[in-house]
Amino acid sequence: MVFGLGKKKFEFSCQSIGMNCGFAVKKASSEEELLEILKVHAKVAHNLSNIPEDTLNKIKENIKKV
Ligand SMILES: [Zn+2]
Repeated sequence: MVFGLGKKKFEFSCQSIGMNCGFAVKKASSEEELLEILKVHAKVAHNLSNIPEDTLNKIKENIKKV
């Protein structure tokens, strides 16, 4: 077995949850990493210092594994 090859990457775009925003996270190596990037983005671009629970659930549903 070779580890590290064919590992899934996690992607998310704000548009997928109906945000009028062109931001997308690509090639995060884990869901946690993706959410960390997104938290920073939400703060800066959407004025959300905390992502609400329902939005967070929506985000998780729309994370693509590629
Ligand atoms: Zn956005």
